Amino acid sequence: MQQKTEIITRFAPSPTGFLHIGGARTALFNYLFARKTGGRFKLRIEDTDRERSTTEAVNAILGGMRWLGLEWDGDAVSQHARADRHREVVDSLVASGHAFRCYCTPEEVEKLREEAFAEGRALRSPWRDGGGTPPDDRRFTVRFRAGDSDVTLNDAVQGDVRWAAKEFDDLILLRADGNPTYNLAVVVDDHDMGVTHIIRGDDHLVNGGRQAQLYDALGWDRPVFAHIPLIHGPDGKKLSKRHGALGVEAYRDMGYLPEGLRNYLARLGWSHGDQELFSDAELIEAFSLDGLNKAPSRLDFDKMAFVNHHHMKLADDARLLDLLMARLAGHDGIVPADTARPRLQAAMGSLKERSKTLAEMETQAYFLLRHRPFTPDEAVSKHLSAEALDRLSRLRERLATHNDWTPEAIGEALKGFAEAEGVGFGKIGQPLRAAMTGGAPAPDMGLVLALLGREESLARLDDRLRA
Ligand code: GLU
Repeated sequence: MQQKTEIITRFAPSPTGFLHIGGARTALFNYLFARKTGGRFKLRIEDTDRERSTTEAVNAILGGMRWLGLEWDGDAVSQHARADRHREVVDSLVASGHAFRCYCTPEEVEKLREEAFAEGRALRSPWRDGGGTPPDDRRFTVRFRAGDSDVTLNDAVQGDVRWAAKEFDDLILLRADGNPTYNLAVVVDDHDMGVTHIIRGDDHLVNGGRQAQLYDALGWDRPVFAHIPLIHGPDGKKLSKRHGALGVEAYRDMGYLPEGLRNYLARLGWSHGDQELFSDAELIEAFSLDGLNKAPSRLDFDKMAFVNHHHMKLADDARLLDLLMARLAGHDGIVPADTARPRLQAAMGSLKERSKTLAEMETQAYFLLRHRPFTPDEAVSKHLSAEALDRLSRLRERLATHNDWTPEAIGEALKGFAEAEGVGFGKIGQPLRAAMTGGAPAPDMGLVLALLGREESLARLDDRLRA
C-alpha cells in the first residue's frame, strides 16, 4: 500500500524588522493548509543578508507570528546556518554538469547582458560549455546552466505557466565570495525540510520557474507551488503604507484582536462561498488551495473592523478587560486602575457592542474613567446654562431618592422628570450628558448613570452644580 505523504508547508520570511501584513497572510495560508491536512507548518528565517538579520529583526518576526497565533512546528530554521549544505549541493550540480564556474568579470557580465538584452534573450555565460583555461588570478561565480527547453510550472493558483528557455539566464548559484544565492538556498532548504507545498506571493512566480529548473536538475520532486496575488490598496494599486502596508504590530496597536485579523486575512484572497465570519476551527476545516483567488484582493479597513467586531463580541470579558487596562496604562486624567477595573468590568457587555476594535473601546470607555472633577469639553458646555443647571439641581434631588439603579428604571425616571418639568427630553438629556461624560462618547443616559453607579453619578452632578 502506498503511504500517504505528510503535507509540509513553510513560511520563509526575510527579517525586515517586522512581520508585514502581506507576509502574515502568506504565513496564515501555509499554517491553515498544514493544520487542515494534519501536516506540519515550518518556519525558516531567510537571514542571509547579515546586515539586516539582527536579533531584533528576527525576534520581530517571531513575535509577530506568536501574536497572530501562528505556531510553527519544530525550531525555526536559519538559512544562513545552512550555507555549507548549499555549497555542497552546488558542487554536486557542477559535478553533474548542471552548473559551471564562470570567470567573467563584472564588466564582462555587464557587456554580455547588454548584448543579450539587444537580442531579446537572457544572459548566457561563455563559460557554460567549458570554454578555455580558467585564469588563475580571477575569482569565479558558479552559474546554473540554463536549459534549452521551455520551462513550465503547474501552479495551484495561476494554472499552467510557461516561459521560453531564452527568458532564463545562467543563474548565479554561488557568488564570487562563496555565498549561495536566494534561489539556490530556497530550493535546497525546502527540499531538506521536506516541504511539499509552497504558498507565497506571486512576486515570486518567476523564481518558481527558476526553482523548478533546479529541482529538475537535482532530480528532486518539485513541491506544489501556489503563487497568490499580492494584497492591493483600496485604489487597486500596490498597497501603500498609508493604506495599510504595515507590520502586524501596527494592527495590534490599532486595536485588532489576533483572531479578528486571522479571520480577515484568511478571507483576503481566499474564499469559501459567501462566508465572511469564521472561528479558527472553521477556518481550518474550510481551508483549501482551491479557494485561493487568482484576482488580487483589496485591503478594506471597514470590513476588517466589521470582522473584528464579531470577534470582540465573542471574546472573553476578562481577557478584553486585561487588554484594555494595558492600553489605558499611562493615560492622564483617568481614575486609578483599582477604580477603573470594576467599572470597566461592569460595562464590558455594552463596551463590546459599541467597539469594533480595542482602540474604539478605549474611546468608548473614557467617559467611565474621567477623573473628577473634570471640565466638560467646550462643545457641550453650552448645554450647561443657568436654567439647565437649575433643572439639574432638581434632577439631583429626584435621583438621590431613586432606588432602582438599573438602566431601564433610570431611563424611566429621567423621562418622568422631563414630563414633570414640562420640557422635551433633550432639555434634560443634554445638560445631564455634559455633566456625566464631559462630552466623551457614551451610550444612552439611563445606561450611563447605571454604569457609573449612583455615588459617582451624583458626585459628577454635584461637581457641575458647585462649579
Ligand atoms: N524570503 C522571501 C521573502 O521574504 C520568501 C521566499 C519564499 O517564500 O520562497 O520574500
